[in-house]
Amino acid sequence: MTALLPSLQMLEPSTPVQYVKGIGPKLSEILAAKGLNTVDDLLHYLPFRYEDRQNPRGIAELQFGEMATLVAEVRTSGLFRTRRMPIFQLTVGQGRSRLKCIWFNGTYLKDKFQPGQLVALYGKVDLNRGELQLVNPDFEILGEEEKGEEKAAESREVGRIIPIYESAGQGRLTSRWFRRIIHRALENLTPELPEGIPSAIRKRLNLLPPREALRKVHWPDDGESLHDLESRRTPAHIRLIFEELFFIELGMELKRREQKSKTGIAFQLNDRVRQAIKEILPFHPTAAQKRALKEIAADMEKPCPMRRLLQGDVGSGKTLVAFEAAIIAIENGFQVALMAPTEILAQQHYLSARRILEPSGYRIVLLTGSLEDDRKREIRRHIAQGNAQLVIGTHALIEQTVDFARLGLVIVDEQHRFGVMQRFKLMKKSGDDRSGTSPVGTGTTARPVEQSSTATNPGASLHRTAEDSRRHVGGEPDVLVMTATPIPRTLALTLYGDLDISILDEMPPGRTSIVTRRVSDESSFKVWDFVRQKVSAGNQAYVVYPVIEENEESELKAAMKMYSELSRKIFPDLEVAVLHGRMETDLKEQVMRLFQQGKIQILVSTTVIEVGVDVPNASVMVIEHAERFGLAQLHQLRGRIGRGVAKSYCILMTGGKVSEEGDRRLDALVRNNDGFQIAELDLELRGPGEFFGTRQAGLPSFRVASLIRDLELLELAKKEAAWILSGPNSELSQTEIDRALRQMRTRWQKTYGLVEVG
Ligand code: ADP
Ligand code: MG
Repeated sequence: MTALLPSLQMLEPSTPVQYVKGIGPKLSEILAAKGLNTVDDLLHYLPFRYEDRQNPRGIAELQFGEMATLVAEVRTSGLFRTRRMPIFQLTVGQGRSRLKCIWFNGTYLKDKFQPGQLVALYGKVDLNRGELQLVNPDFEILGEEEKGEEKAAESREVGRIIPIYESAGQGRLTSRWFRRIIHRALENLTPELPEGIPSAIRKRLNLLPPREALRKVHWPDDGESLHDLESRRTPAHIRLIFEELFFIELGMELKRREQKSKTGIAFQLNDRVRQAIKEILPFHPTAAQKRALKEIAADMEKPCPMRRLLQGDVGSGKTLVAFEAAIIAIENGFQVALMAPTEILAQQHYLSARRILEPSGYRIVLLTGSLEDDRKREIRRHIAQGNAQLVIGTHALIEQTVDFARLGLVIVDEQHRFGVMQRFKLMKKSGDDRSGTSPVGTGTTARPVEQSSTATNPGASLHRTAEDSRRHVGGEPDVLVMTATPIPRTLALTLYGDLDISILDEMPPGRTSIVTRRVSDESSFKVWDFVRQKVSAGNQAYVVYPVIEENEESELKAAMKMYSELSRKIFPDLEVAVLHGRMETDLKEQVMRLFQQGKIQILVSTTVIEVGVDVPNASVMVIEHAERFGLAQLHQLRGRIGRGVAKSYCILMTGGKVSEEGDRRLDALVRNNDGFQIAELDLELRGPGEFFGTRQAGLPSFRVASLIRDLELLELAKKEAAWILSGPNSELSQTEIDRALRQMRTRWQKTYGLVEVG
């Protein structure tokens, strides 16, 4: 009884798909695998392209090779068995003209047609033994009523612009099936779809009502521009895309404001602090570094906590800016934590910090997993007592085991692997979200049960330390996130939408640009000659081997083979060492140190050197199997050279045949040195999911929007979201604000599962 009920009623957006007539439990499983659970999901399953099947043609005018629509009468039909497969053959006519249509494996059509029926057909005009025919055309028997359906109101298949859907369930649910089902869902959809976007915004942007937008993307009006449809720029598409982005940005904005409403620390930036900053500077900061520091300092002076992202190309000098910020905190009597993604990087930061900051008398400690337990305990005591002023370590270590006396600033040196969704989820897990005003806020009060060791989670990662600081000093620490990759603006807005952004878009002076070349590994002997020449001149070289997953045994073996070949056969007279992620930490550190000191001339390495390693005397990098790396990653790797005075060379070696896409990647790198341009291109070539590596889980997944296409709409959405949160005004009522927020919460909960239901 209850199971029958929903099918008698109008469909609501939240109705499970199985209650749409024609779906049922079996097919709904296939749909669920595609993430289509509700009517709303189904209606947002947009066509990936459209076909213009308007203007039916006469049989006599058909031309070989074209796609054609026509309406004709059934004359004869029959099934033929060839040796390979059954073929269904249909002959249709218009007056005296006749046309043959065939369907391979067409047994299922055996009893479909009756002579005299009128059919509409759409397909490719082919030639067989001098005769034109249609092969596997889409068709519709006009006037036919589907079983159980009141009437076939309009042709769904021909005579109009037809939506083409991706099929599902290994082709079981065809494009045609989706056309029928979605059409039916639209016909039975409740007339009252909730509208969450306030009317002032709708008017400003000329947004269609939701129901109309949905109908028009699936069922375009006659005469709609095919180009606009395919580029997703019809008013209907814009409405749906904007809506999706708007509610994401609304959540981000709210999150941001919530962070800002907390009590932080108002650092003082007086002359003494300024002087202390000046004293450390080993060189004149670039204009971009000055601007970034100014933005950071302004945040730090404010009483609310800083949440800022510092992004800039490799080598743009982020570390220096971070150290300057650290001085502000230290000079104000607070401690600073600097968290790095790997031990090598932590080590590296520690060495630079000692070089740059220790002359000023600051007390710096390095906390790594490889230290003796006693030593670790001692360092922790220093931190807890407030003696250590700058604490450098890996994320995991600092997050899990450290109590600070007066933590004022957290600097997170982030690999490009973390997204806002992860940040939000972790905040929730760590109970940081207790204000209840967050988009995901539930007023969680429980202490964390577990902490992710990979967390780069400014707000929450230091939750324990943050809490201690609150106890001690009554304010949340400031957080500065640094990313190692330039991020295209669309991604920055979504991944880091909760953070303010500073950009270093200028390189320090005196950089010689890097010459990048492609070479096939057949001429590797020339490459090694070149390396030898540069090393003899006193420079150092990297040889990078693509071990992308360090636990991939076979890849690592190949890298080690390469190493022994280079060290024994090719450069037996030079100092060659190897570095990979699975070496003991001590050994890794030792190798890095020796390379830094110039005692190792050639470093054979996996991508562990991708991030942050800074050895200015290294001026040559050979990347083996460069075709296997992503564009952004190649750029990161290349950023390890070109840091000193010597002219630098990056040699991309390829082995075997390179795909067309690989070609484009490598050529882009040869032509381009600008990280932001490379990042945009990379995003385009690989799409957002791959952009941050396959393990990227922090990206919001979009139903209709695209991070590559929709930057403009994203910025609009952000602007309008901020407008809403600035409160009611003559154009915007509190009721509308509340409605928008309610819808936003529902969506966040549904999409990201961030709110407990109930
Ligand atoms: P990033 O972390 O942005 O990749 P780093 O902070 O490691 O870059 O800086 C790269 C190199 O440039 C380092 O050797 C650093 O000492 C140097 N550097 C940074 N800022 C300047 C500057 N303003 N002038 C000259 N050299 C600089
Ligand atoms: Mg760096």
